[in-house]
Amino acid sequence: MDFEIIKAQINKARQIVITSHQSPDGDAVGSSLALYHYLKYLGKEVCVILPDAPPAFLMWLEGANEILTFESETSKCENLINNADLTFSLDYNDLTRMGDMGEAVAKSSAYKVMIDHHLDPKDFANWQMSDTNVCSTAQLIYEFIVGMGDESQINTLIGSGIYCGLVTDSGSFRFSSVDARTHEIAANLLKLGLQHNIIHENLFDVNSLNRLQMLGYSLCNKLKVLPNIPVAVIYLTKEELQKMDNKKGSTEGLVNYALSVEGVQMAAFIKEDDNKVKMSFRSKGTIPVNEFSGKHFSGGGHRNAAGGVSFESMDKTIEKFEKVIYDFWNEIL
Ligand code: 5GP
Ligand code: MN
Repeated sequence: MDFEIIKAQINKARQIVITSHQSPDGDAVGSSLALYHYLKYLGKEVCVILPDAPPAFLMWLEGANEILTFESETSKCENLINNADLTFSLDYNDLTRMGDMGEAVAKSSAYKVMIDHHLDPKDFANWQMSDTNVCSTAQLIYEFIVGMGDESQINTLIGSGIYCGLVTDSGSFRFSSVDARTHEIAANLLKLGLQHNIIHENLFDVNSLNRLQMLGYSLCNKLKVLPNIPVAVIYLTKEELQKMDNKKGSTEGLVNYALSVEGVQMAAFIKEDDNKVKMSFRSKGTIPVNEFSGKHFSGGGHRNAAGGVSFESMDKTIEKFEKVIYDFWNEIL
């Protein structure tokens, strides 16, 4: 990777825009804000634009309130993207992961940099740092700053975003994608005085009563294991979500409960949205849910955590899922 090229691009850039994927998660928001604070430290004019707003449980991150969203301020964001001379694409491998905002970035003549850890990166960037073995884009943001020769400039402000991405995308340092370097980076951040306990608390110990009640309802009434295959599912209709807590991010993590049922090796969470049905898949071991999702539900992701979408009705989607999952299971056996 040639960091001299990217250094020169950053040096001459007058307006930099950082972007990440739709329904931004802890890695998307944490990486974006870490890079944002680093580029500010370099004295650059920079903003973070996301397709839609981050969930409430990430709003404690410093700078989160300055994030612009394409959904709510489309023309302002279009102008910023158009006038940018450098854009960063973080935590996604394909511009379509940003919905309409992807077209705005594609049209822009800005020099494009991609930093990501998803499989099959599409060829839209002028410069890319793609490593599909690392647990998070946040880990690559740390390496990016090292590559820029500025490791000593990383402070707790930049470090909070990085730590947030490391923790959320690695299941709190659990997944097999965690390596010694992940812990080394975490250790380096702790040496700077980063208060990891506060970050864990902000991320995981603040639930609205509604969210907990929705979790209870889903586990009590909606969790089931499919006959003859070790696949657990939770389906939630729009009506059910509206009755409970339909705030952004409120169903985050639900699918992991399904995966934790004893003996279960794959889990699906299917929820009805306004004009689509959104799906989350998780698996254990070598079961490639990204391939399943890509083949049947226009999706993708990682081997053990993937997502997809359907534009058919909820009933039709479930019917299709409950058919193709058996085919998939037979194929991988
Ligand atoms: P989640 O289930 O948390 O929404 O998503 C898990 C992972 O699956 C994400 O990190 C992302 O890589 C991938 N993913 C989720 N939804 C989609 C989708 O609609 N299309 C693609 N290509 N990947 C998705
Ligand atoms: Mn990620």
